[in-house]
Amino acid sequence: MMPFRLRQALSVQDAVLQGAASPTAQQGSTVRFLAGGTTLLDLMKLDVEHPTHVVQLAKLGLDRIEALPDGGLCIGATVRNADLAHHEYVKRGYPVLSEALLSGASAQLRNMATTAGNLLQRTRCVYFRDTAMACNKRAPGSGCDALAGYNRNLAILGTSEHCIASNPSDMNVALAVLEPQIHVEGLHGERTVPFSKFHLVPRETPHLETVLVPGDLVTHLTLPPLPPDARSGYLKLRDRASYEFALASCAIVLVTRDGKVDTIRIGLGGIATRPWRAIEAEHMLAGQPLTEANVQAAAAAALKGAKPQSENGFKVELARRCIVQAIRNVAGEAFQ
Ligand SMILES: Cc1cc2nc3c(=O)[nH]c(=O)nc-3n(C[C@H](O)[C@H](O)[C@H](O)COP(=O)(O)OP(=O)(O)OC[C@H]3O[C@@H](n4cnc5c(N)ncnc54)[C@H](O)[C@@H]3O)c2cc1C
Repeated sequence: MMPFRLRQALSVQDAVLQGAASPTAQQGSTVRFLAGGTTLLDLMKLDVEHPTHVVQLAKLGLDRIEALPDGGLCIGATVRNADLAHHEYVKRGYPVLSEALLSGASAQLRNMATTAGNLLQRTRCVYFRDTAMACNKRAPGSGCDALAGYNRNLAILGTSEHCIASNPSDMNVALAVLEPQIHVEGLHGERTVPFSKFHLVPRETPHLETVLVPGDLVTHLTLPPLPPDARSGYLKLRDRASYEFALASCAIVLVTRDGKVDTIRIGLGGIATRPWRAIEAEHMLAGQPLTEANVQAAAAAALKGAKPQSENGFKVELARRCIVQAIRNVAGEAFQ
């Protein structure tokens, strides 16, 4: 591991100033915020990340979960994944979020990992994590060894000829269907970014993963309330039942009226370069009864744009089945 300077941020403003203060911050940033450290410290040990300055966020008081007057929820950036998953309000009002969090990593990791850290966790692509390999995300312009290599776990949606790394977060898939606002404090003040605009697809610049710039600190997320009769759930398919990333996953928010779909939101994980919404499938199901045929057709449409690589063609069928089963699980008797 390279030597680095560790500082405790004393306030949000202090964190932002420290985050943007490094002389090289504007050229790709050598400052990193440290939350739970379960992604960052691994990557520093692997020499994938080598910040000169590390700024700890533990003392900022961003660890609160608060109900909002409109029935929504405010989640601090440093709230631990375990605390969020087990919070009564989350279990009752946003089961999809609780289920997604509890499907991730292990109990020990969830006790350390934070909301903003999870939001910003880096890909598990083995070529990104191995500095002997070419990776445009880690070293822009160096190429992508995953394209002709071991790509079984990687993305089939939102890819480019420069990067096929998948976004590994379970929580992000749930957030995709809960549509939170992400609150960011930066050098030019506070701003709010809708979740759908936060993560970027790789295109020619896979090293740019979000809209954040050096110094930007995620302070909290606000979740809008779901309709009182909404049901939600998360289904994760993986090689083993725990302590494993998704090969395909699906988050659902569903409201039915008179036997037909009033609202459905479908989030996909494990198969895309960023948290993914199956918008076309949602439109196909709106106003329709949840028959086997309708759901199968919508699930197929969700994968229409998939570009499988040499070893992950199986994900097209796996993800299709994952969507159908996730809808079946959440819909219960409404699935005809
Ligand atoms: C063995 C293992 C298995 C795992 N399995 C899963 C799994 O199945 N599913 C899953 O979803 N995840 C899994 N994870 C990943 C885990 O969920 C993440 O490592 C964790 O959520 C990251 O949170 P953290 O607080 O530790 O982030 P950190 O490592 O502290 O930070 C991650 C990144 O976010 C940045 N950051 C943190 N906070 C802020 C902020 N407030 N503002 C701006 N930037 C910030 C950091 O600078 C860093 O770049 C696994 C991890 C391990 C090690």
